[in-house]
Amino acid sequence: MKILVVNCGSSSLKYQLINMEDESVLAKGLVERIGIEGSVLTHKVNGEKHVIEQPMEDHKVAVKLVLDALVDKKYGVIEDMSEISAVGHRVVHGGEKYAGSVFIDKDVMKALEDCIPLAPLHNPPNIIGINACRELMPDTPMVGVFDTAFHQTMPKYSYIYPLPYELYEKYKIRKYGFHGTSHRFVSAETAKLMGKNIEDIKMITCHLGNGASICAVDKGKSVDTSMGFTPLAGLAMGTRCGDIDPAVIPFLMNTTGMSIKDVDVLMNKKSGILGVSGVSSDFRDVESAANSGNERAKLALDLYYHRVKSFIGAYTAVLNGVDAIVFTAGLGENSATSRAAICDGLGYLGIKIDPEKNNIRGEALEISAPDSKVRIFVVPTNEELMIARDTKDIVENLK
Ligand code: ADP
Repeated sequence: MKILVVNCGSSSLKYQLINMEDESVLAKGLVERIGIEGSVLTHKVNGEKHVIEQPMEDHKVAVKLVLDALVDKKYGVIEDMSEISAVGHRVVHGGEKYAGSVFIDKDVMKALEDCIPLAPLHNPPNIIGINACRELMPDTPMVGVFDTAFHQTMPKYSYIYPLPYELYEKYKIRKYGFHGTSHRFVSAETAKLMGKNIEDIKMITCHLGNGASICAVDKGKSVDTSMGFTPLAGLAMGTRCGDIDPAVIPFLMNTTGMSIKDVDVLMNKKSGILGVSGVSSDFRDVESAANSGNERAKLALDLYYHRVKSFIGAYTAVLNGVDAIVFTAGLGENSATSRAAICDGLGYLGIKIDPEKNNIRGEALEISAPDSKVRIFVVPTNEELMIARDTKDIVENLK
């Protein structure tokens, strides 16, 4: 069975074609600048890149080009589109309705539309992507996999904000949490690495990429997470501020005359590691600036580590103990210095890293010291594979 995984942004489309017999990636790629001048498709097969520059006025044209690339005589990987058994779509927001992945039918499309106010930037392109695929592959089953679904198991006291309760009832303002597909994937992989049943493990999964979130996973279920109503909450991130005193917003607006939109852009695009360091949103640049003596770059990193550490402490309390800490995503998978700095001083919780073992990048490995009471892992995330696995399960059960 071959499954196409699609992740649609407002002007981009990422895809992978996965052979579910051995879970290998047959082809993957990225379409950029859809609907803008300079549209380009980068299609990769066996590490070889094929760049197709062609105007693409909308997502349907982009999907058509992706399908053409997949069946191309020279760099295609399938003979015919009918070899694609199903399409798995990444959908950012499933609201309170979806605690798992679903077969996409008319009712699901309606529910996705209903979620637009909760994710006005993300859900519309996801819906456009689904419709574009549907038009070109009308008989191929489609599955929706939600970033929010994994966190639907959080207890009510952890997702309700201490705001007037009517706001939750009327507008559904609450914590949803994101990166759920990643937290679910790495927690399941970690259980395999530990050789244990996930039901018997308390874990804290740290997804540290451009966007970053932490999740407390008890018996394989999310019980708390750092992102909130939107992906702006929680940790400091590349360009996002994470948790700040909400009173900063009216203060800024009153004092500087900034508009709501200005503050929104400031908190989402100009804050975080970029805002504090003044150097970059990319941790590699900030790490190298800090190493060259840039004080603000060092401050940005110290602040970042401090936040991650604070959440690990908080979630250890939430879980009443922890068996494993898991690092994933760009920084979590690749930066030994960050992992060491985050775990440094957590010995009282039984968390102790092995400096030798920690010296790895992008591999699934245990990095805890032999006398660490809590096991520490690096597990590369693979949201596309998780989407493909869910899609396969759902499609097989349709029969
Ligand atoms: P996204 O949230 O966009 O999917 P990623 O998970 O790919 O992001 O993470 C991207 C971030 O990971 C980059 O901004 C970079 O800061 C960080 N990163 C990647 N490789 C390294 C590395 N070797 N050392 C430090 N940071 C790294």
